[in-house]
Amino acid sequence: MFSLTEKSLYVAAIDLWIDSLRERDRCYVSHGHSDHAREHGTVVTSVNSARVCRLRFGRRTGRSKQTSFLPDAPRRRDVTFEEHAFNEPWSAGEHRLTLFSAGHVLGSSQLLIEGAGGSFVYTGDFKLARSYTCEPPEVKKCDVLLMECTFGRPQYVFPSRDEIEERIVDFATRALTDGCAPLFFAYSLGKAQEVMAILAKANIPLTAHGAVHAMARVYEEAGVHLGAYEKYDALTYDGTRALVWPPSGKTRPKAAHNRPLRTAMLTGWAMDAGASYRYGVDEMIPLSDHADFPALLDYIERAEPKKVWLNHGWRDFVWRLRKLGINADYLEAHQQLALF
Ligand SMILES: [Zn+2]
Repeated sequence: MFSLTEKSLYVAAIDLWIDSLRERDRCYVSHGHSDHAREHGTVVTSVNSARVCRLRFGRRTGRSKQTSFLPDAPRRRDVTFEEHAFNEPWSAGEHRLTLFSAGHVLGSSQLLIEGAGGSFVYTGDFKLARSYTCEPPEVKKCDVLLMECTFGRPQYVFPSRDEIEERIVDFATRALTDGCAPLFFAYSLGKAQEVMAILAKANIPLTAHGAVHAMARVYEEAGVHLGAYEKYDALTYDGTRALVWPPSGKTRPKAAHNRPLRTAMLTGWAMDAGASYRYGVDEMIPLSDHADFPALLDYIERAEPKKVWLNHGWRDFVWRLRKLGINADYLEAHQQLALF
């Protein structure tokens, strides 16, 4: 039995919560983004996601010195990590569980559960496009697929990776040439490190917000090469280096040494008309850590599931899939599914 209760997925057959937003005794965490990772008694996760979570939990609970950018939350209990390498299965009663890469951010995993009744894959957030900073994604064949569909509408077709990189480098180069300070807004986990790697490859000098900087260190510990970068300091920043800044940051850096800021937001929502006005930035660049519409379809084609369940995204993606002859449904709250 598989059920969705209060926005939390639970697989009764193996007594395991999945990406629960409520703290549980034991829960699988697909990756370190705050809409998936909570401080459970035991966090079942990949080796690199455990690195990421240690930093994030440490910050939230004040165990690290750098707590200023995340809301304080009382620490409920100690967190134990049950870490699994990709593609090294383990047993849970009659079932076999395997984590494999989701290609979304460092350590992001998908969960495969296999039993006598068939196989089930939970994708969590994923992307199929290449990146410099996270493990290459994998698609496994399964009977039942539960996938996210954040960009499950046909207008969400991202430009090629080469074109996106070019736009990022061009934005930074133009701003610096014009005497402006280029600032990229990017999630401190994932996209920030990706844009750092892109800019470093183009030899553009880099300065990272404290939260981005701390997470970049975790990436480096995991063996990801990010090039040279400095940590932002309002007193010394002179506007001649590209800045990488979390969009959630309460403050924006001030213009430095009479160099005005020129801002770009990195998000898949850049494909929406009027997005730059809505986000209050000069330019929108569609660097995303999610699959676009064609990649969602590509994933289903490669996984060959008999049944597709959708969560986290457009409900009308169900109808688009049904038109293609795919047995699809949207997973509703309080729904119970017999899987095994
Ligand atoms: Zn995510």
